[in-house]
Amino acid sequence: MFEKIQYYLKSFLFLELLKGMYVTGRYFFRRKITVQYPEEKTPISPRFRGLHALRRYANGEERCIACKLCEAVCPALAITIESEQRADGTRRTTLYDIDLFKCIYCGFCEDACPVDAIVETNIFEYHFENRGENIMTKEKLLEIGDRYEAQLAADRSVDAPYR
Ligand code: SF4
Ligand code: SF4
Repeated sequence: MFEKIQYYLKSFLFLELLKGMYVTGRYFFRRKITVQYPEEKTPISPRFRGLHALRRYANGEERCIACKLCEAVCPALAITIESEQRADGTRRTTLYDIDLFKCIYCGFCEDACPVDAIVETNIFEYHFENRGENIMTKEKLLEIGDRYEAQLAADRSVDAPYR
């Protein structure tokens, strides 16, 4: 009986509605913790693992020496490398593919690389529209590396926070 009266009182006095408005009102004037993405962005750690890139040295020579450590360590078998020896005796890749559908962004490839060639950028806004675009070829990876080299170098410097 008491429960029924309580139920009717709640309905007539809009108690649930007032309770909801009270919660809204309480947060209305507080500091906002949500951001208006994509206009507003949250800070990203220099250790964030996003889209991959292949880096070059300052003289333009590609860093990768085709040691295949990244290919061996990749738990998702996402990396495929083919290589050949150049006329000067150095070794370079003729094919370097990363299948982003397989990649789990663990960062092992980056950790394994002895020359800081394969790295993960802080780029997380990308998508694919056509079949095959999930394969990041050597050309695409080098192009990303060239475009973001300043940021990549800064994130990997000893002065970078959290390193
Ligand atoms: S981030 Fe991990 S899963 Fe992705 S390519 Fe590198 S090692 Fe493989
Ligand atoms: S990216 Fe680094 S680990 Fe992978 S093959 Fe090239 S040098 Fe070796």
